[in-house]
Amino acid sequence: MVSLPELWIPAGIGIGSNQDDPVEQVSVALRALAGLPDTHLIYASSLYRNPPMGPVAQSDYVNAVAILLTRKSARELLLGLQALELAQGRRRDTELHWGPRRIDLDILTYGRQVIDDPDLIIPHPGISLRNFVLLPLLEICPDLPIPGQGTVSRLAAGLDGTKLEKIPTSMQDSIQD
Ligand code: AMP
Repeated sequence: MVSLPELWIPAGIGIGSNQDDPVEQVSVALRALAGLPDTHLIYASSLYRNPPMGPVAQSDYVNAVAILLTRKSARELLLGLQALELAQGRRRDTELHWGPRRIDLDILTYGRQVIDDPDLIIPHPGISLRNFVLLPLLEICPDLPIPGQGTVSRLAAGLDGTKLEKIPTSMQDSIQD
């Protein structure tokens, strides 16, 4: 039997924060993603300020997306992201559903795979509804296929981005360090 070569899979990652200096939190998360083992960060979007969704009154979110190339399985990647959230001080035990988040990292896509497990759904079910995911993806990867839904540019067509504010680069200089 021939052993398969190790595969590098492109994975889209959604990043969000609305607590404890969200621009800094998202910048820290991007640097942490760049340092994940068996993984390369190949594209990072601008940061976008965005009013929160859901019923809980809270501060604006800062969101960004990144494209990784990874040799991790989807599940290993999920564990890696959860470890980064924990290292950045996210406390799942005390937070409200839809409530404020120091850092939230989601797997948006993992190659062309579709996964529908209780604890891991890919593509991430919120993609097509979330301008704060689609518009940053449109910036860095318009042709990215979202399995079963078409490309990012098709999904983003006609989306209302008026409430999304791109954060000037000078405020994110720390990402380039
Ligand atoms: P959140 O509050 O957005 O961090 O959601 C965390 C929960 O969503 C975890 O229990 C994960 O197991 C689950 N989950 C399901 N699909 C995904 C995904 N694609 N990316 C990240 N978390 C996911």
